[in-house]
This record gives sequence, C-alpha cells and structure tokens, in this order.
Amino acid sequence: MTSPLLAVQDLEVWFDLPHGDTLHAVRRVSFSVERGERFGLVGESGCGKTTTILALMGLLPPTATVSGRVLLEGEDILEDGETSVRPHRWTDISMIFQGAMNALNPVQTVGAQIVEAMELHGIAEGADAKSQAGQLLEMVGIAPDRLDRYPHEFSGGMRQRAAIAMALACEPKVLLADEPTTALDVMVQAQILLLLERLSQELGLTVILVTHDLPVVAEVCGRAAVMYGGEIAEVGPVDTLYHDSRHPYTRLLFAAVPDPTGEEEVVSIPGAPPRLDRPIVGCPFQPRCDRAFEPCPTEQPRLIALGADHQAACHLNDPAFRAVS
Ligand code: SF4
Repeated sequence: MTSPLLAVQDLEVWFDLPHGDTLHAVRRVSFSVERGERFGLVGESGCGKTTTILALMGLLPPTATVSGRVLLEGEDILEDGETSVRPHRWTDISMIFQGAMNALNPVQTVGAQIVEAMELHGIAEGADAKSQAGQLLEMVGIAPDRLDRYPHEFSGGMRQRAAIAMALACEPKVLLADEPTTALDVMVQAQILLLLERLSQELGLTVILVTHDLPVVAEVCGRAAVMYGGEIAEVGPVDTLYHDSRHPYTRLLFAAVPDPTGEEEVVSIPGAPPRLDRPIVGCPFQPRCDRAFEPCPTEQPRLIALGADHQAACHLNDPAFRAVS
C-alpha cells in the first residue's frame, strides 16, 4: 500500500492569550491527501480551517504552540519546528493566502515578483527565471507579455491568477488555497475554480481548498473534511457528505446553501460556534444540534469509520450510544 502524499496526524494548535489564557484553535485534526487530489476543508468562520493550513506551512505566530505530525512523503516536516519545515515551504508546499490578489507588491512588476520568488529558492535565475515566469503566467491564462506590468494594471481576476502563478513558482507538490475566490464576482470565481482544477489535473498538483462555501467544494473537490469548533466533524467523498451525511452539522451546512431556483427554503443554523478559549465538554455542536441526546453534553464524540473513506464524530453513529438515542 502506498503512503499518502501528505498525512496530518493529531494536529493541535493553542494560542497564548493575554492574562495567561489559552485558545485551543485546532483539536486532534487528522486527514491525508493523495497526489493530484483536490481536498476541501470547509466550515464556518473561526472553525480552525485557516489555522490548520498555516500550521502545515509553519507560518503561525510565536504565540502558537503546535503539536502533532505532518508527514510529507513520510517525512515529519514539523518534527524540528522551523528547521524542518523551512526547506519544504514554498518548494514542496505552497499557499495562496486569503486576499492574495491584494497582497501583490504595488511598486514591483508582476514578472519581477515571480522571478524574485524563483531566485530566492534557487529555482532559476536571470533570463531563465524571466522566461519561466512568462510560462507560468501563460499557464494561468495571462499573456506572457504582461510580465512587465504592475498589479494595478491587472483586473481582480488577473491579480488572483498572478497570485496563483507566484504560488506555483517553485513547482510545489501541494497547493493550499485559502478562500481563493472571496471578493471575486461570480464569473471570475468560476474561472479561478476551473483554473485550480485544470492545474491540479495537468501538473498532478494536490490542492487543499479552504472555504466556507460548500458549493465551491462540491465544484472542485473529490473529498472534504467538515470542521467545527477546531475539530473535524465529518470527512469523506463530497458526494457521500451530500447524500449520506452522518453528522447533523454537515446536514445543516448543506441545508443552509441557498437554492439557485429559489424553490427550496434556506435553513439557517441557529446559535453560534463554541468559544475556543473555554474548555469544550461533550460534543462541541451540542448546543445547536437538533438531534442531541443523552451522552452529547458530557461525552466527547470521536471520529467513527462509517465506510472505507467516510468518518463522522457524532454519537448517533456509535453503537454504544445508539441504543439510547
Ligand atoms: Fe448532535 Fe450529539 Fe451528534 Fe453532537 S454527538 S452532533 S450533539 S447528536
């Protein structure tokens, strides 16, 4: 059996807060992705999605404490902190940050920024780097003769494509994309999603797509993990999550997606996510759950395998509790 390209095992992240408090942002997160796979991390704001992928890149601030393992081709890249993750950052695992299209340097041409990334990581230099930067722009759908243009001369969609080109400058194996279509209009969103899908297919690139937007995940990803309260609530093929969801939160998330025909009522999820700076006892979703029963306020659910590739953390799936539900 071959090992996955990337395996995250028992990832935990705490942040030190003023006055000695801590915020437990990511809790026991485990998942793995294969080469060329497109995997979604989905959930409401503050559920730990972005913190999870920043931890994979070793990009959390010094107030964060991280534990767990991140195995890239079997090597634990977090084992020695910055020392072990630095050689892999941008070269093996790269990232498109939230709002990346607005983070391009306004006083440097787009081409110079891509060339700089290549030269910094020893990928190519001088004319060779510039030629490769042109090829990268072409690959993301921008004419290479625009290398010498400044970001303000690009539309929002083109700036996002340029940000994707920069993230690919060092030929990574894994691309982490954090809300890559936020703030783009619907047509441009669709083009960017198609672009990510095409790049994944053509380059064998593994894409981990972070979003609060379930239709985006359904469009691009084959599998996804639904996060809630810093934990994985359910993980599996997107089709399974949609048609055979085994966690009430996943079901409510899908029900909360607006129906484009307007025929079906949109259901909002009552209540608010749990505070992560307080201990969570029992199931984190319990205060909002319409299926909560006896063990939910006190017993913490663990991920239970429901099929070869499907797991959910809900007592309703646990034979030990089902009898009392
Ligand atoms: Fe709802 Fe209980 Fe399942 Fe949590 S464990 S999602 S509260 S039924």
